[in-house]
Amino acid sequence: MTEFAKHSQLKLLVKLFRYVIPYWSKYLLIILLQFIQGTIHALPIILLSRLPLFIGTGRADDYIKFCMLMLLPAFLFRYVIFESLLNTLNWYIGLKLSLKFRQVLYRHLESLSLSFYQTRPVGEHIYRANVDIDSFIPLFNNPLSGFPMLISSIYQTILMAYLISIAGPEILFYLALILIPIYSLVHVLYSTVRRLDYKKRARAQELTATLRDSIAGIRVIKAFDRVKFTVRRYFRALAQYLKSTQAAYLMQLLVADLVRTSPVHIIWPLSLPFFAYLALKGKIPIISWFGIIIFSRQMLYFLDLTFSFFQKLRLYTVPVQRYFETLDIQPEIIEPGDAKKLADLRGELEFNAVDFAYQPGFPILKNISFKLEPGKKLAIIGASGAGKSTIANLALRLYDPNNGKIKIDQENLRQINMRSVLAQTGVILQDTFLFGGTIRDNIRYANPNATDEEVIQAARDAGIHNDISELPGGYDMDAAEGANLSGGQKQRIAIARALIKKPRLLFLDEATSSLDTVTEDAIIKTLRQNFQKITTIIISHRINLITDADEIIVLDKGEIVERGKHDDLIQNKKLYYQFYRQQIDFET
Ligand code: ADP
Repeated sequence: MTEFAKHSQLKLLVKLFRYVIPYWSKYLLIILLQFIQGTIHALPIILLSRLPLFIGTGRADDYIKFCMLMLLPAFLFRYVIFESLLNTLNWYIGLKLSLKFRQVLYRHLESLSLSFYQTRPVGEHIYRANVDIDSFIPLFNNPLSGFPMLISSIYQTILMAYLISIAGPEILFYLALILIPIYSLVHVLYSTVRRLDYKKRARAQELTATLRDSIAGIRVIKAFDRVKFTVRRYFRALAQYLKSTQAAYLMQLLVADLVRTSPVHIIWPLSLPFFAYLALKGKIPIISWFGIIIFSRQMLYFLDLTFSFFQKLRLYTVPVQRYFETLDIQPEIIEPGDAKKLADLRGELEFNAVDFAYQPGFPILKNISFKLEPGKKLAIIGASGAGKSTIANLALRLYDPNNGKIKIDQENLRQINMRSVLAQTGVILQDTFLFGGTIRDNIRYANPNATDEEVIQAARDAGIHNDISELPGGYDMDAAEGANLSGGQKQRIAIARALIKKPRLLFLDEATSSLDTVTEDAIIKTLRQNFQKITTIIISHRINLITDADEIIVLDKGEIVERGKHDDLIQNKKLYYQFYRQQIDFET
C-alpha cells in the first residue's frame, strides 16, 4: 500500500489549475453570473430587514408593491436564465476536464517503461485513471462544494458582514471570538480526515487490483481449485475497505462536519437571547436588531460554505496527489529530442560487450557480443532463465544495458527513434495476446493502414486463412471470444500480424514452443518461406527450428558459452550437443 506522504498542497493545486487555464473565459462568465446570483439571493433578506421601517406607517401596500417589483423579475431571471446557464457551463467544464485528465494520464502510463509495470499492480493504475480523477473533478464544477461556488459564497459572506457592520460592528467582533477557536479545531480534525481518506483510497485500489487479478486469472483459479480461497481473499479486502471507509466517514461527518456546522446550527440560535439583551438594553436600535439576526444567520451560512470549501479542498488534494504521483514518474527510457529516425531499416543488429541486470547486484547478461548482418538468422539457445528473452528485450529497447553498446544499422540504440525501428520490426512471442475487436483488427494491429486484401494475404501466408474462414463470423469474429481458437491458430494469427508489417527485423521468442510437433513443423515451414530475407533472431530451445541459422549462440547463466553453426556445435560435443541429444532422445 502506498503510504500517505505529505506534499505541498499549494504546489499540487498550482499544477492542477494549469489544466483550468484554457477555460478562463468560461470561468469568468461563471464568476460574473455568481455575482449576479449572489446579489439576487441577498435581495429578499435586505428587503425583509427594511420591514420594521414600514410598521405603523400606513405604507404597507407600498412596501409589498416595491418588494414584488424587485423580486419577481430578479428571481425569474435567476432561475430561468442564470441557473441553467451556470449548470450548463459547470457540466461542460467537468466533462472536458475529466477527459483531459484521463488523456494525459493514459498517454503517460503508455510511455512508462516496462520496469514500472512490473513493480505496481495493474488494478492500481485502473483505479487512479478512473476513480481518483472522478473524485476531484467536482472541485472544478460542483456548484455546491466546488470552486465555482466559492466565488459566490465569499461574496455573500463579505456582503453580509458589511450589512452587520452597518447595524452593529461589535457583533462581528463577538462572532470572530467564537468562530476562530471552532474553525481552528475543525482544521485540525480535517487533517485526520485527509489521512483516513488516503488510506481508504489505497484500500479501494487494492480491491480493484484483487478483482482484476481474479478475473484475469480465472482459468488458473478454477484449475487449481482456488475459488474458495480467492473469494475469501476478496471478501477480506472488502472488509478492510469497509473498515477504512467507515473510519473516514465517521471522522468527517460525525466529528469534523458536526463541529464545522455548529456556528450555524448551535451558536446562532444560542446567541439570539444575547442579541435580544443588547436590543432590550438599548445598546442597538430595534431595526438593527432585526437586521443583525437575519444577516448573522446568512453570514454564518456562507462563511461555513467558504470554510468548508477550503477544508474539502484538502480532501480533494488526496486524489490529486495520487494523480500527480503517477504522472511524476519518469520513463526510464528517454529518447533524445534529435533521436535519429531509421526510415529504411537494413536490419543489422550488434551487441557489443553488453552487461545487464534487472535489479542491481543480480547480473542477468554478462559480456554479450554478436553481430548480425542484414537478412541473416541468429539463434539463441539455452536453458530456461539463461537470459534469452532479456537479449530481445534489450534489442527492442524495453530496457537499457548497464554496460556495453547495442547498435541497429550501426547507430547506438540510445540515439535512435525507436518508433521508426519498431514500425519495421516484427515480434512473435510464445503467448499471443489477442485484443478485444475482430480477428481482422487483430491482424491489422501491426499495420493499421493495411487493406482487407493485405489482411487476407497475410493470413494465407501464415496458413490460417482457411481456419478463419470456417469460424462463425470469419474475419469479423470477436477475438475477445478467442477461447474458440487453439494455441496453434492464435500463433498463426501472430505470424500473420508480423507478416502484414513486412518487417526488416524479426524476433521469434519461443514462438512455437507451446505447440505440438505437427503444428510446430507446419509453422516452421511457414516461417522459413516468409521470413527468408529478414534479419531474424530466433529464441528457442527447440533444435529443429534453428538448425539452418547463420549463427547459433548458446547461453548459460547469462554468458555465451558456445557459438557457431549447427554442424560445428554438434562436433564440439558440449552444451549444444547435450541439448541436441536430449531432444533426439525425447522425441524418439
Ligand atoms: P529465458 O528467456 O532464457 O528463459 P529470461 O531472459 O526471461 O530467460 O530471464 C533471465 C533471468 O532474468 C531469469 O532469472 C528471470 O527470473 C530474470 N528476469 C526476467 N525478467 C525479469 C524482470 N522483469 N525483472 C527481474 N528479473 C527478471
